[in-house]
Amino acid sequence: VTPRAFTRGGAVARCPRCALHAVYCLCGEAPRLRPRTGLVVVRHLHEAEKTSNTARIALLALPDALLLSPDEARGPAGEALLSSPDTWLLLDGPGALPMEEAPWGARPPARLALVDGTWGQARRMAARLPALAALPRLYLRAPPPARARLRQPPTPGGRATIEAMADALALLGEEEIARDLLALQARHVEAVRRQRGVPRAPGA
Ligand SMILES: [Zn+2]
Repeated sequence: VTPRAFTRGGAVARCPRCALHAVYCLCGEAPRLRPRTGLVVVRHLHEAEKTSNTARIALLALPDALLLSPDEARGPAGEALLSSPDTWLLLDGPGALPMEEAPWGARPPARLALVDGTWGQARRMAARLPALAALPRLYLRAPPPARARLRQPPTPGGRATIEAMADALALLGEEEIARDLLALQARHVEAVRRQRGVPRAPGA
């Protein structure tokens, strides 16, 4: 992404990493988290431009996580990565197994793939990208607690991508990393609201 993509109205430059205005930049606050399970996010192109995108924020804190565009996921390197053994797609739908029952076995899975987009975009990408369509699926059975979010999920069990990562990692025994990710998400919500001039929600 070019810095120009983050300049609106020619006046306020946005940080090219976190996409916030410089005064609200979160990059210096992001922890460095290294979970045992690898993370790969395939992000819809529309998400790349949105300030509210949470995969971008998660990746600030996860130096080993990989972000792929749909084209990259279709390319040889993306296909090779996503088809490597013990890779699971975290997305509910037919055939998905509940993470709460640890269907991957005794050791944590090597890799979790996530699709980042609206509910419909995520499902379409998972169906149309062969490397994603071939993966065994997991879902989070327990609905998330109430949390500050920039978008209202379409279903009660809906989560932002960073929340899905955190809740999945917590089930893999990485509670501390999960807490740090959720704390970063809360700071992001607050920063975006302040940037937009919206008062902070009670308890947010
Ligand atoms: Zn930044």
